[in-house]
Amino acid sequence: MSFLTDFIDFLSALVRRHRLKKNNRMVVIRGSCNMCGNCCRGISLYIDGKWLKKEKQFSKMQGKYSYLRRFEICGRTDSGLLKFRCTCLSNDGTCNDYENRPELCKNFPAPSIYLMDGYLPDGCSFRMSTETDFEKILEHAIKDTAGFKAVPCSDKKKSGFSGS
Ligand code: SF4
Ligand code: SF4
Repeated sequence: MSFLTDFIDFLSALVRRHRLKKNNRMVVIRGSCNMCGNCCRGISLYIDGKWLKKEKQFSKMQGKYSYLRRFEICGRTDSGLLKFRCTCLSNDGTCNDYENRPELCKNFPAPSIYLMDGYLPDGCSFRMSTETDFEKILEHAIKDTAGFKAVPCSDKKKSGFSGS
């Protein structure tokens, strides 16, 4: 069952990514951190392509990735994912191990949250949305016109470019 839900999550992320690409849209994250610390408590973890759902699975991952040893289980979401809090979070909402914080902290909030159908924590002052990817549209337009070449005026009729 767990394998099936992981696979469905994986497929959903692929579909979301494909839909964005097809519609020339991109995930945009705007805002700045207010240091509420909510992304360091009550969070779910997505490791090696899977959401952590079982204590055993978490222990196994802690053995594999030492940076996970700073997290402890603090509950469960409505959808059955484990919830974690970080032991490095200080009372004032700052990180006690900022210099050595894991990549997942450095990259937060990442566009992958949108792709995984996730959401930003309550109180987070970042905003996540999708917008038209004008760079991609321009790229396609350049690609579409790449087959055309400039033709000297005298050759225009021959090439079917005649304006008269
Ligand atoms: S290491 Fe620091 S930034 Fe990362 S979750 Fe823990 S307290 Fe937050
Ligand atoms: S939840 Fe958002 S605003 Fe709060 S500390 Fe994390 S990144 Fe900053």
